[in-house]
Amino acid sequence: MSYLLPTPAITALPITGRDERFPVRRIYCIGRNYADHAKEMGAVPEKGTPIFFLKPADAIVTGNVVRYPPATSNLHHEVELVLALGSSGAAVSVDEAPGLIAGYAVGLDLTRRDLQTAAKAKGNPWDTGKSFDDCAPIGALTLGRPAPDARLALSVNGVVKQSESIAAMLWSSAEIISLLSDLYTLMPGDLIFTGTPAGVGPLARGDRLVATVDGAAEYRAQIV
Ligand code: MN
Repeated sequence: MSYLLPTPAITALPITGRDERFPVRRIYCIGRNYADHAKEMGAVPEKGTPIFFLKPADAIVTGNVVRYPPATSNLHHEVELVLALGSSGAAVSVDEAPGLIAGYAVGLDLTRRDLQTAAKAKGNPWDTGKSFDDCAPIGALTLGRPAPDARLALSVNGVVKQSESIAAMLWSSAEIISLLSDLYTLMPGDLIFTGTPAGVGPLARGDRLVATVDGAAEYRAQIV
């Protein structure tokens, strides 16, 4: 087999304590999964129909330099628990869902908020606001599952901007996996961004970020 073009590199996450890396297939994301964040975005927090969207796997950044994207003047941080799936599943029950989780990490659902807000106002898709180069910085994976009350936090230039327990998620990790598996066949290598707590805000070139979730490696980056 030969290819017309050079084959794209496999995007992979480092795993704490292991030489192997975690190969990424797809990145699923859920929106408005913390009540206080839904409120700050002007939405009524409700556990109705969840909002799902995707990011391209090649938008992952595992290094410590994140490029400020074009076409925005309002890049926002959203710190999130990221789940990594180690097995496949379709129409998975909430009870079965935790069995799909291979590991977890802290990640940033970077958002061109101006483009997302304009899309929302017109009832258009969020893609240009949510999917762009470098929109998914992620720290090293820890194998296993996060503690149910693990704390998620982000500081920018030494100031804490977001800090919340993952117990405050409207849809739990198991519920998110179950709901997604009704829409897609989930596969090993899939990642899930599980939503951000309150405190989102703009980033500027030069900003230094430290993102943490209890039990996983911290992620540090600078916006350039
Ligand atoms: Mn988000």
